[in-house]
Amino acid sequence: MSQKKRVVILGSTGSIGESALKVARDLPDRMEIVGLAAGRSAKALLAQATEFKPKAVALYDTAELDTIRGHLPDGTACHGGPEGLIELATMPEADMVLISIVGTAGLAPALAAIKAGKAIAVASKEILVMAGEEVTREAAKHNIPILPVDSEHNAIFQCLVGEPTRHIRRLILTASGGPFRKTPAADLAKVTPAQALKHPTWNMGRKITIDSATLFNKGLEMIEARWLFGVPMSQVDVVVHPQSIVHSLVEFVDGSQLAQLSHSDMCFPIQYAVTYPDRLPNRLKPLNLAEMGSLTFEAPDPERFPALRLAREAGTKGGTLPAVLNAANEIAVPAFLDGQILFPAIWHIVEAVMKRHVNVEHPHLDEILKADAWARVAAQEEVASRKIECP
Ligand code: NDP
Repeated sequence: MSQKKRVVILGSTGSIGESALKVARDLPDRMEIVGLAAGRSAKALLAQATEFKPKAVALYDTAELDTIRGHLPDGTACHGGPEGLIELATMPEADMVLISIVGTAGLAPALAAIKAGKAIAVASKEILVMAGEEVTREAAKHNIPILPVDSEHNAIFQCLVGEPTRHIRRLILTASGGPFRKTPAADLAKVTPAQALKHPTWNMGRKITIDSATLFNKGLEMIEARWLFGVPMSQVDVVVHPQSIVHSLVEFVDGSQLAQLSHSDMCFPIQYAVTYPDRLPNRLKPLNLAEMGSLTFEAPDPERFPALRLAREAGTKGGTLPAVLNAANEIAVPAFLDGQILFPAIWHIVEAVMKRHVNVEHPHLDEILKADAWARVAAQEEVASRKIECP
């Protein structure tokens, strides 16, 4: 069998999508792009299609389709809407589907890809947070690997090669701590969107950058880890590591810990997911620890950053609660970016919506989607009641 992976990228115009295309440029013998999909960035998608000549492209926003139709390379099919994403996720020409769509729109294509026998590489943590039970069950049923792209989970995945689950004592996710690691609690209400969008170590999309500042990103990752590696929430911990060089650790039952280190560049985990179990030389800058000087670690502060407590509660109770946490946060983040609410209102809103939710255990997909829709409405109500005078 050819070692070249034929890859579809859902969310190709975003930060992860662009990094994945860099990896494809770096490893043309190992990664062929057969499908590209975006939300509404028609021009960016067209430029990518012109360079990579995939078999098909898709745009979620069908209103933008006319911008690209007629301009695509010969032989590149064009799809639109949610069904267009499913078309790409199930393309016969694909071996692997990289899900890097921000938000929940990646869930249905991820499940469709699994059922069509494609390996999935998952950057979109939302899909495992919302439907981790369903996604992992379907993957096991169809014997499909889920390759983690999130740098922390990719690090844990690397540390766990050859290790059975019974060897794990703790998974330790590292968190940069975000731009407000040292900000006193009283000053968090004064934080502006521009300050929150300045991440100290990673260059990412807007939503995940705000999630990194509230630590909801780490909270979502705790739930993601619980499903990816089949451990209870009580075995998932977080340590703050401001330099973002150690991407996560595993503590084994004998007390040894293994960690994975590299510069903070998403091309590292994306390449590993694509070439796994192989390792290939590339043009990425290797790490020089002597140049780094010191790496530091500290415990997260649960008082100033309640997101970790809320995520632990959602992940422990399970059911539809993680989907509710995720959806409420997805409403609160743009409300903060639009200047409608103050920064701490993000977690006040998520907590209020979680308290109002009647949890459904072991939910089916339709119950998850219903809880997601309910939480969005409830979060809008909470936004309206908090406009500018919160917390
Ligand atoms: P961006 O905002 O940079 O990009 C999002 C991508 O999703 C864009 O290509 C966008 O298309 C596309 N998209 C949005 N909605 C739809 C839709 N309905 N249908 C199809 N495509 C859609 O996000 P990131 O790349 O930063 O993050 C993507 C995912 O990866 C998130 O879940 C994030 O949590 C996760 N992740 C990101 C990391 C990072 O370093 N950035 C690290 C680890 C995980 P368009 O341009 O047209 O809007």
